[in-house]
Amino acid sequence: CCSWTVIVNAEGEYLKYKDPEQPINARIRDLMKRMTLAEKIGQMVQADRSVVSREIMRNYSLGSVLSGGGSEPLPHATPQDWINMVNDFQEGAISSRLGIPMLYGIDAVHGHNNVYKATIFPHNVGLGATRDVHLVKKIGAATALEVRATGINYAFSPCIAVCRDPRWGRCYESFSEDPEIVKKMTDIIIGLQGEIPADSRKSVPYVGGKDKVLACAKHFVGDGGTIRGINENNTVIDRHGLLSIHMPPYLDSVIKGVGTIMTSYSSLNGVKMHANHELVTNFLKGTLKFRGFVISDWQGIDKITYPPGSNYSYSVLAGVQAGIDMVMVPYNFTDFIGDLTDHVNNKRIPMSRIDDVVHRILRVKFMMGLFENPLSDESFIDQLGSQAHRDLAREAVRKSLVLLKNGENADSPLLPLSKNASKILVAGSHANNLGYQCGGWTIAWQGLNGNNLTAGTTILSAITTAVDPSTEVVYSKNPDADYVKSNNFSYAIVVVGEHPYAETLGDSLNLTIAEPGPSTITNVCASVKCVVVVVSGRPLVIEPYISQIDALVAAWLPGSEGHGVADVLFGDYRFSGKLARTWFKTVDQLPMNVGDAHYDPLFPFGFGLTTEPVKA
Ligand code: BGC
Repeated sequence: CCSWTVIVNAEGEYLKYKDPEQPINARIRDLMKRMTLAEKIGQMVQADRSVVSREIMRNYSLGSVLSGGGSEPLPHATPQDWINMVNDFQEGAISSRLGIPMLYGIDAVHGHNNVYKATIFPHNVGLGATRDVHLVKKIGAATALEVRATGINYAFSPCIAVCRDPRWGRCYESFSEDPEIVKKMTDIIIGLQGEIPADSRKSVPYVGGKDKVLACAKHFVGDGGTIRGINENNTVIDRHGLLSIHMPPYLDSVIKGVGTIMTSYSSLNGVKMHANHELVTNFLKGTLKFRGFVISDWQGIDKITYPPGSNYSYSVLAGVQAGIDMVMVPYNFTDFIGDLTDHVNNKRIPMSRIDDVVHRILRVKFMMGLFENPLSDESFIDQLGSQAHRDLAREAVRKSLVLLKNGENADSPLLPLSKNASKILVAGSHANNLGYQCGGWTIAWQGLNGNNLTAGTTILSAITTAVDPSTEVVYSKNPDADYVKSNNFSYAIVVVGEHPYAETLGDSLNLTIAEPGPSTITNVCASVKCVVVVVSGRPLVIEPYISQIDALVAAWLPGSEGHGVADVLFGDYRFSGKLARTWFKTVDQLPMNVGDAHYDPLFPFGFGLTTEPVKA
């Protein structure tokens, strides 16, 4: 890069900020000198794709666009459709007066889960059970490639919440209840953004290369510790608790060069995190020296409660003063711009604060090479749902499975299952449902029901492929007891669990297996040896059925590669997953985490049996 025409304007003036031979700080300073207040505030806006156009991008010089959970899904869009859409917005952005490129953000939280035929990896709860940092890094790199395949450069991932209560509807987005595990799993950031060069300065965001994406550690901080696991609620915790439980993964993320951090909807000791100056500005940016930018959650500042007599303008003031740099303000972005302009003009927000914001945002954009390469090309299109990524996801599924029971004792294991039994039964609501296997944040925010949503293999079809061709596989979703009894099944595999959900709609006080799962277990396990596979985002109430069950497997939300489940059930690979969450007996015990004084779980944190692979 670059031809002379790029680094001079029509009048022949040298545009230092466009010159890639200049150091980033010099480019930022040069660009900022040229920016008006409106252009600076425009950079702070991230708007929903439904309200922007090429013209709006140009006229407002908006910093970013997103497809969020609240956006209309595009279930049938191809990678090329995505590229065209993103490029259209980008062309608007770079044709603005100063030509500042935009970021396009999306929730790629278990693979590029928004796109038809993408590889869907296990949700974080399953990845935590693998304990495999190297694997998780590879998943980050694969996700980055699939996101780039659609022309997108920014992923709202990873969620580094330390979920302390499985009643929370986002528990599956958390790697573990244990901060140490979550900390290690932040290596996924290195997969997404790239490895920081050894000579790079600490805590400076790093995104290397066109095959990488900007990452976002979320939700700062304490989202996993709310009362009764109620989403967006209050987390009551003292300083020691905060620093030893919820904060450690942020320390690691900053060191690993994470480019952005998203504030949490939740409150901390009664203060909304979107208005928490002490933690966002003093601690994160001051003490931890985070140099990337802080983004709000979707309409997050709108949720800052304002005192009687004030209005949204108060929320804008409180959010920006607290330290939020980019505002995910999906729809009414002109209100935000108007209010913030008014605050600056009336000196309620100093210009130095706006300059700090813009410096942070531009640093990320320069670092990513966006000024040199703003437009997406088609070079990564074949990466979406590639065989290599599906193989990686299958490996992740295998490693995430946790074997909780295997026969009455070590002398009478049921697993691994024989591949050449004459007739086997596969039952349960979750045996043949890709949507259930993938969970929330898959094509639609709340997830989907059924097999047509994307490409992949259900557990049933994986079992059918795994067994000997001479084995008869009978599938019955919810067989009655007499039917099971009157057939000569060698063994049965019962797959039950939770229906998909996301965020608040997933909050649950009872954590039961979805109906008719319990009766399917009872009907099947009464007369045939049975392995129960639980497909869920968290431990569920299983104690009442445990004595009926011969073998029990936690499969979490495995995603699109059901083959991974069959690989381990039939002994091609051994079980190796270990609980990254405590499996409770009754919901009355909650919250209950490893290290608690009255720890009395059904299966403790770290538990997981193993099997030997079957020799060929
Ligand atoms: C969630 C975030 C997400 C954002 C954009 C919010 O509702 O809390 O995790 O990144 O939406 O979809």
